[in-house]
Amino acid sequence: MFHETVTHASGESRGHASEAHGLLLLRRALKRGHAIQATPPGGASITWSLLGHGGRAAVRSITLAPHTPVGELTDATVRDLGAIDSTATARYGVRDGRRIITVGLFEIPALTTARYRARSLVTADRTDRVRLTLTARLGLLAREHQAGADTALCSCGRLTACPSTPEEARSLTRRHRETVAAEFVNSLSSTFAAAVAAS
Ligand SMILES: [Zn+2]
Repeated sequence: MFHETVTHASGESRGHASEAHGLLLLRRALKRGHAIQATPPGGASITWSLLGHGGRAAVRSITLAPHTPVGELTDATVRDLGAIDSTATARYGVRDGRRIITVGLFEIPALTTARYRARSLVTADRTDRVRLTLTARLGLLAREHQAGADTALCSCGRLTACPSTPEEARSLTRRHRETVAAEFVNSLSSTFAAAVAAS
């Protein structure tokens, strides 16, 4: 679930968006060519401009902030989430009477499994098949594309440039994050969308 904030001509309205609705908003934004950025807590912002009064451009936005932020995504967490995401065979199992996540022969211990569930990083369908939540995916994306060090403007290493001003650096970084977010939304499979819709 997300807190949803929508800006419009007379201010903004707030509400809640389910995971399925959040995904729908992202896919619609992609189709319309609106700018999307993932946020570190596992949310997203969507912005676009339209012609307002007197032909002046007005910026509109939809912001999705997760009810449960992903928290710190350590390297170990990222590895576990990557393992879950790499296969359709991740499921809940039981070890010593406690719930664990199994990915093939790989097991995520009960305590870690409980933490991932409490942080809403994973969810399962009625058959106990485990998948990452949209929030987890957005948090991972934002983590992968943080401000870079020295010459690289992004930690992914894909964005290297020599901007002459801080403004130029910010604008390059913003455009890069919008590009990777668009790629991300475009890459979400219909299987994932169907699983989200069914949950
Ligand atoms: Zn990047």
